[in-house]
Amino acid sequence: MTDLTDLTFAQVRERLATKEFTAVELTRSYVEAIESARGLNAYVLETPEIALERAAGSDERIALGEAGALEGLPLGVKDLFCTEGVRTTACSRILGDFTPPYESHVTERMRRAGAVMLGKLNNDEFAMGSSNETSAFGTVVNPWRRAGSEAALVAGGSSGGSAAAVAARICLGATATDTGGSIRQPAAFTGTVGVKPTYGRCSRWGIVAFASSLDQAGPIARDVRDAAILLGAMAGYDRRDSTSVDRPVPDYEAAVGRSVKGLRIGIPREYRVDGMPAEIEALWTQGAAWLKAAGAEIVDVSLPHTKYALPAYYIVAPAEASSNLARYDGVRYGRRVPGRDVTEMYENTRAAGFGAEVRRRIMIGSYVLSAGYYDAYYVRAQKVRTLIKRDFETLFDQGVDAILTPATPSAAFGVGEKADASPVEMYLNDVFTVTVNMAGLPGIAVPAGLSSEGLPLALQLIGRPFDEETLFATGSVIEDAAGRFAPGRWW
Ligand code: GLN
Repeated sequence: MTDLTDLTFAQVRERLATKEFTAVELTRSYVEAIESARGLNAYVLETPEIALERAAGSDERIALGEAGALEGLPLGVKDLFCTEGVRTTACSRILGDFTPPYESHVTERMRRAGAVMLGKLNNDEFAMGSSNETSAFGTVVNPWRRAGSEAALVAGGSSGGSAAAVAARICLGATATDTGGSIRQPAAFTGTVGVKPTYGRCSRWGIVAFASSLDQAGPIARDVRDAAILLGAMAGYDRRDSTSVDRPVPDYEAAVGRSVKGLRIGIPREYRVDGMPAEIEALWTQGAAWLKAAGAEIVDVSLPHTKYALPAYYIVAPAEASSNLARYDGVRYGRRVPGRDVTEMYENTRAAGFGAEVRRRIMIGSYVLSAGYYDAYYVRAQKVRTLIKRDFETLFDQGVDAILTPATPSAAFGVGEKADASPVEMYLNDVFTVTVNMAGLPGIAVPAGLSSEGLPLALQLIGRPFDEETLFATGSVIEDAAGRFAPGRWW
């Protein structure tokens, strides 16, 4: 018999319906798989009792013919999502043992659709990072290794736990968040599919805030179909998030496998960056050829302000972060370190509670927002942001339906390799993903091949606002051509 954890949700859904196995049996397989994969450090909290109890509920609903869209799906939840009665830390010491009395809108929707929570997944502290090395719970280990090597590689970040867990088959799908690439980059590093929806598609309510104008929740899944199913359950209007958009959620799954004939796919020349490995360039050319073979028209396009996206992002994101993180003062949430007076208490609490990268962001953010520098940095970065957004609008106005780019400038790198170099080295990893957040657009990362060292590489498709369907259609063309990728079990 095949291992239950090897099945996709689309496959599981059918077999649960025909009672080939129960949701409780499926959940038990995952609970065991989690126990034997602790070395990956993907989970920061396991909740097997909750999972088994919810799975029993799923079995009852399946028996009654009342299965929801995610009925029985063993789900991992990024520790940035508040979960009622279950510790939520954003992988920061400052939140201590914070246990929210409420559930995030997104996880609430998934729960109502029948998803079974297995536990909370590791991430970079407050989602700041590209390698999951800034987490207070330590680094996530990528289930992929270079051929012939046992060196530990990063799973990407900030949703490293989500991506590693999906790839290692210790959850069937996971929630993640993406402020500058944190869904797509870890998905690319682990051979999984990650979707960053249009800004406003998923409610941010109950998700620990990093940079509010950029943050979006989305799924990481085994394949494009599963990602579409998951997003369908996560997306939807919520009046508690003023940026949540009230428009119907399409049937995303129906877009998987839909014809791409006649679609115009743009290849932006500015994404050909210096020092990009030849194999990534080749993968990109191959991706365009696959889409062309499926009937799409490939057009060379220009996004002239691309080179300013990364520097502008690293002003806007820290600025918003410094403001959002002001709330962690030892008074209202989590950890408190006493002092002689209230000021010293704030200082002691924040010094002990925040890690080095978060402190760096707070300092950068406070600096660019300070009276003397506000116009020179923050206001200018916002103007650049508008230009980046306009670049995309111009292409969409010209009839481009989606844009194809590499997802990352390299395959997964070694633990310590960039963290020990310089923060800028790490930030450069986001070069292809941050533009999408700056412009509020949807993006998908789809595995498209293996590097010469045997590691997954991915392509990114960027779509028009609220046109995730085209991303699922084009993404499934890449997936069908490239095949699927799963790491061999060594853990
Ligand atoms: N790596 C980027 C950063 O550190 C993006 C993180 C994210 O998307 N949450 O800011």
